[in-house]
Amino acid sequence: MTHPFTSSAASRFLRYVTFDTQSDERSQSYPSTPGQLVLLNRLVDELKELGVADASIDQYGYVMAALPATPGKEQVPAIGFIAHVDTSPEVSGANVRPIVHKNYDGRDLVLPDDPSLVLREADNPELKGQHGHDIITASGLTLLGSDDKSGVAEIMAAAEYLATHPDIPHGPIKIGFTPDEEVGRGTQYFDVTRFGARFAYTLDGPQCGELEIENFSADAMTVTFKGFNAHPGYAKGRMVSAVKLASEFVHRLPRHGLSPETTQGYEGYVHPHTIEGGVERSVVKMLLRDFATRGLDEKARMLTDLAEEVVRPFPTASVEVERHESYRNMKEVLDRYPEVIEHAKAATKRAGLTPLFRQIRGGTDGARLSFMGLPTPNLFAGEHNIHSRLEWTSVQDMDKAVEVIIEICRGWAGA
Ligand SMILES: [Zn+2]
Repeated sequence: MTHPFTSSAASRFLRYVTFDTQSDERSQSYPSTPGQLVLLNRLVDELKELGVADASIDQYGYVMAALPATPGKEQVPAIGFIAHVDTSPEVSGANVRPIVHKNYDGRDLVLPDDPSLVLREADNPELKGQHGHDIITASGLTLLGSDDKSGVAEIMAAAEYLATHPDIPHGPIKIGFTPDEEVGRGTQYFDVTRFGARFAYTLDGPQCGELEIENFSADAMTVTFKGFNAHPGYAKGRMVSAVKLASEFVHRLPRHGLSPETTQGYEGYVHPHTIEGGVERSVVKMLLRDFATRGLDEKARMLTDLAEEVVRPFPTASVEVERHESYRNMKEVLDRYPEVIEHAKAATKRAGLTPLFRQIRGGTDGARLSFMGLPTPNLFAGEHNIHSRLEWTSVQDMDKAVEVIIEICRGWAGA
């Protein structure tokens, strides 16, 4: 089946990327930057133009809208589609000049505003599947903003398609656009009840056909070593340096595994990312990651044992270990609702794609939403080289993502 929406997602995307929506982790406001509100308000206007009368923005900037079910499908569970409007704080998103490289054939794509930047197939294996497609890049000075304006444009294009094709059966459809995902606050004030969906999908992933249904479970750990200070000239047999205890602890961490630099795929790690302090007191801050929450418990026990072992020979020294939950693997929630994945898989196939499952070695807004009562796996949006001036997407992949959204709506409606 071919949908005649080829230009809709891409033309929207080319407009949305010109809005500067970079988020800022140092900001105390919500959303963190006013530029995000400009686009979010614009999306409300565009939804209203599509006939989505109840599109609204709340005090935090969350845009929510609902497409009513087609006749006879009112009892189908309400399904949500969510994307974030902000772009990474790490690379400028101001004055983005998108360039469409038509009919890609494997040639080098030179970014004209910084010709030292060249998108080469040899460095980007994912470009191999893109021959014949129209590739969109930025001009060399900024990121593109495909993360996640691809998702925004695809959801808008799908809404437009459903609004103009009342013959396609679907249950109640909810649309959500959120700020501040890139600074980890995307779901901070998200009102799951007001959104009104039973299940949802974020559109915020890379490769065509990919489905992300699991992510790390994550904890933070603070290991505080307390030593004993004395005048260093008269410290013999008395001083116990917390600096040395902390160093010894870090030194004894596993060398050949369990670290960010030695793991991939399903392997978890422990990561000392900050160390600070003095002789009396030194603190090691750690990240713990594992796809199984019980794997986090094992890692926490291993670190606690190690820390206690380090101070044991010194009666005047001690150690305190604090552990805080960061986020959890959404699979723990999604496993209870296999139909959410099944519909995504079936829709991907109906769009002519092979479903590919990939695990996220990090967190995601969908994981947080899943534990807030809204089971939300992540779908591809066609994002590549995100947070980089070499970011790119493909017009045809965006259209595929729109097709997957439509097929998901249709599938839940039993059509
Ligand atoms: Zn994103």
